[in-house]
Amino acid sequence: PLASPRNYCSGVIRSPFDDVEIPEVSLSQYVFEAQEPYAGKPAMVDGISGASYTHGEFREQCHQLGSALTRLDVTKGDVVGLVSPNCPEFPVTFFAVASIGATITTVSSAYLADGIATQLVNSGSSVVVAHKGVLAAVVEACKQCPKVRHVIVIHATPDDEKAGLLSFHKLLKDDGKRFPHSVKINPKEDVAVLPYSSGTTGLPKGVMLTHYNLVANLHQLQHKEISTLGDNLGEDQEVFLGILPYFHIYGMVPCMAMSLLSGSKTVTLPLFKSELYVKILEKYKITYLHTVPPILDFLANSDMVKHEHLKPTHTVLCGAAPIGPTLISELLKKFGTKIYFQEGFGMTETSPVTHVTPKTKFVMGSTGVAIPNTLTKIVDLNTGQTLPPNGGEGELCVKGPQVMKGYFNNEEATRATIDLEGWLHTGDIAKMDGDRNVFIVDRLKELIKVKGLQVAPAELEDLIRQLPDVADVGVVGMPVDHASGEAPRAFVVLTPGSQLSLKTIEDFVECKVAPHKKLSGGLEYVEAIPRSPTGKILRRELKAMALSRMTQ
Ligand code: AMP
Repeated sequence: PLASPRNYCSGVIRSPFDDVEIPEVSLSQYVFEAQEPYAGKPAMVDGISGASYTHGEFREQCHQLGSALTRLDVTKGDVVGLVSPNCPEFPVTFFAVASIGATITTVSSAYLADGIATQLVNSGSSVVVAHKGVLAAVVEACKQCPKVRHVIVIHATPDDEKAGLLSFHKLLKDDGKRFPHSVKINPKEDVAVLPYSSGTTGLPKGVMLTHYNLVANLHQLQHKEISTLGDNLGEDQEVFLGILPYFHIYGMVPCMAMSLLSGSKTVTLPLFKSELYVKILEKYKITYLHTVPPILDFLANSDMVKHEHLKPTHTVLCGAAPIGPTLISELLKKFGTKIYFQEGFGMTETSPVTHVTPKTKFVMGSTGVAIPNTLTKIVDLNTGQTLPPNGGEGELCVKGPQVMKGYFNNEEATRATIDLEGWLHTGDIAKMDGDRNVFIVDRLKELIKVKGLQVAPAELEDLIRQLPDVADVGVVGMPVDHASGEAPRAFVVLTPGSQLSLKTIEDFVECKVAPHKKLSGGLEYVEAIPRSPTGKILRRELKAMALSRMTQ
């Protein structure tokens, strides 16, 4: 049913779906209970080694690791850092930490030592779980983190243990007796996860997501008019391809947690390699496929992906960055309408999903309608007035149980993002049609999105400013193509007489940051960085300047 006129009066638009009642339980209780009927079925398979566990074994492992962590004095209130590419051990760590009432902060496994250290220090992590593949960077990072007491290594070698590191798989042999059954988790207050996001401005900040936030989003997403999970499969299991990084909210909640909760099977892959990806599609007959624009582009436009590879697939989802009608049309043209394509919109700060295209009606170019229990308004950028549907473009604001508690240790940033009435200001510019479909048209905030991953200009600017001859610097995202999205480009002002070359700056950045944060959009000298009277970089001007030069 469409909104009643009453819904339109104030410009505050309700979800077209009835509200759902969100259970006030801890995240682990919510997921473990839902999994119960699937205990004997496979839950996670390592796409590289083939190692796997069932849903029942998953729960046991969480219990054993929870007990082992308790023996290491990890208790409620502690923060555990997790630095790992996707693998079956990731969700075990994640849910073991959550189940004992501690908080987990997920760090990108693409980060180099400095990036890892920054997050571990800022979050106050006292224990780190690291995959062997990223251990060197984690060990280097820990030299800057005096608070870290233990490093637990997934796939540790005897040498790692000799060096004082702990073996993840040995901890899993724990008898489970120290599991803290009596720990009290207050779902609405206690923070389960602390992923990092730069939000609308500045450096990455810890996003406090409570147990309730995450349970809410998982519950909202299972609404039968939104979710196609289990549709037409009968007794068969859904099969997910776990390739979107689990450290990021999109991989973490709609992919990893949803797979476990729904009794599905996930085949994990640590990174995207085209041959391997296609091999996994072939071998495991993926039924439910999460993508970001570059992967969607690969599916739609690469000759390596044949029609039969998606034969078992009933749904392809995409989100995390603008997608564009061309790419969606290309996908549907290649695979036909048997595939149900669904787009989602969200943010780390909203656990993540706020809008999805509903099952009933797909409107090309729209990121869909608000999910249950979620309110939307579009606020005029000049007047601050809430606009009615079809009333033009403005900032997208959302309200709902999935909205974060706030930024960790940063009340100022929290107040700048969530207003006194509880509206979260997304920093995205959007419009809405008369059927409550939201269309994202631009980004007001500084954030750069590279292949769906965040790059905070402030972080790159701080880094470049460390070079002695840099007098000023501004970084913006330049449009690349519909698959990659944007690429960071730096504009540098040198001190008079300096000979610092652009290549030196580029190389300096490259050896300090994760590959997606490199200055792949290029860099150039400028005489001055345009700034507002209050000193804020006028990024739109910088971008327009570069674009006009490129098209000349
Ligand atoms: P993150 O916190 O990394 O998930 O980034 C959130 C931001 O990604 C949003 O505020 C948008 O700018 C962008 N984004 C996410 N989903 C979409 C989408 N479907 N269309 C356009 N932009 C999106």
